[in-house]
Amino acid sequence: MNIGTDLDGVIADSDPAYRFFIKKFLGRELKREDVTSFFYEDCLGISIEEMNKVWDFFNKEHGWDKIKPVNKAVECLNKFAIKNKIFVISSRPVFLEKVTKDWLDRYKVNYDKLILTDGQPKLNVVKDLNITHFIEDRLDYAQDMAKAGIKVLLFDYPWNQHSEKQSNLFRVENWDDINEFFGTC
Ligand SMILES: [Mg+2]
Repeated sequence: MNIGTDLDGVIADSDPAYRFFIKKFLGRELKREDVTSFFYEDCLGISIEEMNKVWDFFNKEHGWDKIKPVNKAVECLNKFAIKNKIFVISSRPVFLEKVTKDWLDRYKVNYDKLILTDGQPKLNVVKDLNITHFIEDRLDYAQDMAKAGIKVLLFDYPWNQHSEKQSNLFRVENWDDINEFFGTC
């Protein structure tokens, strides 16, 4: 099987690092349950321009390097990588390719290919690679892929609630659930 997986919120536990730097830069404290939108500017009630200043600060302070892996993500993915192809597909900007590769190497993630879509939806890339299963935490991307017939495992988070039930879209709590879904793959 060709398995696709998102990075931030799925393999990399990015939200705590984002919130840490938001607090450092803006002095505003967000709890995880306050992150009810994928876009932090919406949660904070600030403009995209103001939020971009936070991201500039995050980049300058090497925030990407401070992100830790999601519990059991590496262990499970590396098990899946034995018999399947693993494509890490993230919408991170392309200038983060080296930082991202280094992070995956540091935590010893086994994968076949890393693709950064630079803020673009992932469906076309996923189709081109004949990916049958995708692990994601962004709701609109997950819904697009599920509609196209890809089986999507969606991490259940405060920022992806309020969706209708949809075929091919399965909500999971953690990597144990994903491991169970794939069984002995
Ligand atoms: Mg994500």
